[in-house]
Amino acid sequence: MFMKTIGLLGGMSWESTASYYHLLNEGIKQELGGLHSAKVILHSVDFQEIADYQQQNKWYEATELLANAAKGIESAGADVVLICTNTMHKVADGIQSQIGIPLLHIADATAQKLQADGIKRVGLLGTKFTMEEDFYKGYISGNYGIDVITPNQKERDVVHDIIYSELCCGQIKASSRAQYVEIVERMQKEGAEGIILGCTEIALLLKQTDTPVKLYDTTSLHVQSALSFTLK
Ligand code: GLU
Repeated sequence: MFMKTIGLLGGMSWESTASYYHLLNEGIKQELGGLHSAKVILHSVDFQEIADYQQQNKWYEATELLANAAKGIESAGADVVLICTNTMHKVADGIQSQIGIPLLHIADATAQKLQADGIKRVGLLGTKFTMEEDFYKGYISGNYGIDVITPNQKERDVVHDIIYSELCCGQIKASSRAQYVEIVERMQKEGAEGIILGCTEIALLLKQTDTPVKLYDTTSLHVQSALSFTLK
């Protein structure tokens, strides 16, 4: 069985990169059985550097840091690269333009599933960058014709702060889960037919068993798209 090698740009945060590594290997085990495991090349960055660039609006520096890492992944033999965070897809084009292997975009993986499920209007949770700027919402509405709605200002603050001060630090709190559930269920009342967990750490906190509202976990959908690419 020929299996392609998956490149991961990770460490943003490492808590969610660990999920990628785990899910990729679970997926290969399920598909191929035996002692099979995923062929992975991981470049894991220091997230503090990236978070500082985000805060200081230094997107060019962030692009170059990640593009250099992606070039290394390519020369190490990867067939494809995944950026293991929704937020840093803000610089996906800048990375893709510097490498010869394809970058599997997390919003494609997500929107294709939404489309398959017939979702016309979806709620989006993520960092403020992801919820407030156009690189993610616009990508999905522009390329897939799906209406993307976001939480109100107060809720966005809550969602964003919990990501950086708890989830990226490995803290999972029941009180934060309850706040997320409240936001998700309010957005459903506003017309969201499903909710994108548009930050790769959110699934560490919020599970489908916590709410009847349909959840779309970008980490697991991104991994699914990598698995089909790898085994194609
Ligand atoms: N992993 C998160 C995401 O998917 C947030 C961390 C980051 O800023 O990259 O957006």
